[in-house]
Amino acid sequence: MIPIIIPRANHPISRKNIDEEALKVLYRLHHHGFLAYLVGGSVRDLLLEKVPKDFDVATNAHPHEINSLFKNSRIIGRRFRLVQVFFKGRKIVEVSTFRSHSEFEETQTEGGEILRTDSFGTPEEDAFRRDITINGLFYDIADFSIIDYVGGTSDLERKVIRTIGNPDERFEQDPVRMIRVIRHAARTGFPIEEQTYQAILRYREEIKKCSPSRLRDEFLRELKEGVAKPSLTLMLQTGLLFSLFPDLDRALGERSLSEKKTRVFFLSLFDLADQLIKTGKLLSESILFALFLTPFLQAVTPLHPFLGKREKYLYWTQTIRWAVHQIFTPFAFPRGARETAYQILMAQSILKKAIQRGFIPKKMRMKKYFKEAVFLFGIEAQAKGEKVPRILRNAAPSDLLPWWPKEIKKRYRRFDR
Ligand code: ATP
Ligand code: MG
Repeated sequence: MIPIIIPRANHPISRKNIDEEALKVLYRLHHHGFLAYLVGGSVRDLLLEKVPKDFDVATNAHPHEINSLFKNSRIIGRRFRLVQVFFKGRKIVEVSTFRSHSEFEETQTEGGEILRTDSFGTPEEDAFRRDITINGLFYDIADFSIIDYVGGTSDLERKVIRTIGNPDERFEQDPVRMIRVIRHAARTGFPIEEQTYQAILRYREEIKKCSPSRLRDEFLRELKEGVAKPSLTLMLQTGLLFSLFPDLDRALGERSLSEKKTRVFFLSLFDLADQLIKTGKLLSESILFALFLTPFLQAVTPLHPFLGKREKYLYWTQTIRWAVHQIFTPFAFPRGARETAYQILMAQSILKKAIQRGFIPKKMRMKKYFKEAVFLFGIEAQAKGEKVPRILRNAAPSDLLPWWPKEIKKRYRRFDR
């Protein structure tokens, strides 16, 4: 297949915006007679005039050839080997040899045995093994052109997220791609192309077949990158969230008014989290887990009139423990983070009592998770439009409201008197 070639004069990618070390790697490969392309997310981001997170390089040189070209490099990966080239300040440029298929596609023999080979391929095959069209573009250091086998440039112009090839096949090969499609749509604000969207509806249950560690990594990226609200909105719309976390269906479905309210609450918590992340605040995995579970826990806890105080407390404790472990267990989420999420959630009712009494015991304030518990309390109050009690602000002054960015304060000021 002949790709579309966009010459330097017709695209905005300038070498000025390419990482210096990635350029060194590209040039060195090129001067030794190899093809050397910038690939994946970096080309996409440069075309979108964003600053890329990392610059990946692809070449027709084999791993051992790359390795011998760069003194400061090592080959990693057991199945699909790639080369990491190290630079000062712990900087790494990853160089991979063109591949014929994605490392996550399982190739089965007739006997059903899974074959995994380090099968190198052509540039064309390497473009087609990628997930979505806007991630399948190459920037060629030989003449600074963009090479487009997959229609990525026109999709960037049209602003759509589309899988490369038939979406049914691509999701069947690797269902994690559904999460990636949603994350990239959320990030760019581009809608998901109709065929791709319909395929998610058909294949969403396949997500259960993926390895827990990959699911965890891709899902956490949704929550951590400051695009949790749009990502979770799409996860809810497509139902992929319920395929991943079936228990959530009974609280966040859209069958009743209370479920709709829970949805709104859920999304507004992550809206606030996104804004904090975008202004540079780091939210721990425990806080993200706790935020994630809060609306669910509140929705499933019955306010039974005949339950005594102690029974209610026991019920609450058990529900939290069950939720933290049951809902997240299949995802190989780190045990430590889950345990802290449990403590943060448990601390909420203690905080509430302390507020009623008008004083927070020192024992509570000394807990490792105290600040995070106050944080959750504050963010929940803001999402619900309630005011954050003064006593909490006094208890953790520099950790609750003062560092909340101005724009959030402004937006929620009417609640924060
Ligand atoms: P980011 O900017 O978040 O790093 P990215 O597009 O670079 O986004 P990565 O996870 O770093 O995403 O993956 C690098 C590239 O590898 C992608 O651009 C895509 O081309 C390809 N890729 C990643 N995961 C898959 C997958 N599951 N199937 C096919 N191709 C994939
Ligand atoms: Mg990347």
